[in-house]
Amino acid sequence: MDIILYLLQLIQQLYQQNCFLIKFICKYIPLKQWAFDDSHSPKYQKFKIDELPRIDNFKQDWDWKDLLSYYKQRYGKKIKPIFRRVECDIPQDCTCPACNAPVLYLSWNDGKKKSQIRCKVCQTHFSPTKDNRFSKTTKLRCPHCSHILVPKKDRKHFIVHKCVNDKCPYYLHNLKKVDKKDLKEDYGKNKYKLHYIYREFQIDFFKMDLNTLPKNASSL
Ligand SMILES: [Zn+2]
Ligand SMILES: [Zn+2]
Repeated sequence: MDIILYLLQLIQQLYQQNCFLIKFICKYIPLKQWAFDDSHSPKYQKFKIDELPRIDNFKQDWDWKDLLSYYKQRYGKKIKPIFRRVECDIPQDCTCPACNAPVLYLSWNDGKKKSQIRCKVCQTHFSPTKDNRFSKTTKLRCPHCSHILVPKKDRKHFIVHKCVNDKCPYYLHNLKKVDKKDLKEDYGKNKYKLHYIYREFQIDFFKMDLNTLPKNASSL
């Protein structure tokens, strides 16, 4: 069939469906009631998905090759790979976390202790373990008050990051809507979700098999 003809037919079909839906809304859904809807009640705040956090990325966009050519142009100096008297025992796949320089430019900074590596290109000192100060190159911030979010709960498939700032405008706004009785109770506030939260999912949704999803995967 001609593609144009096919598309025209499809548009007509969609248009008819649209007309049907508009009629359906007019007939069965009392639009006026929306104004009195209790969906804004703080009780339902738990089901609300907060907007995305602000993400700070500390990773700079230059690397060791840029630095080498910068030194050469600015100071006429060529940085050579480290001259070694003994064989290097830094793992071959180790790179500088700041400028990505390969192992040729890395040396131990603390002699026999071997707990700190120094990068000859950018002079950064770092620990050879994976969990060093460079392992987190991003920080999540609350979109309402810019405070750094605190990872509060570690669920099976996601981490809950929370804004714990008591002066956060989002929190104060939600607090105003809460029943005064609940505020007097011990832990009364816990009935509501008042702080900004962000769920960082750790599973790859593209590789997920929907049929083998665990039972409590949807638990909040
Ligand atoms: Zn470096
Ligand atoms: Zn906040």
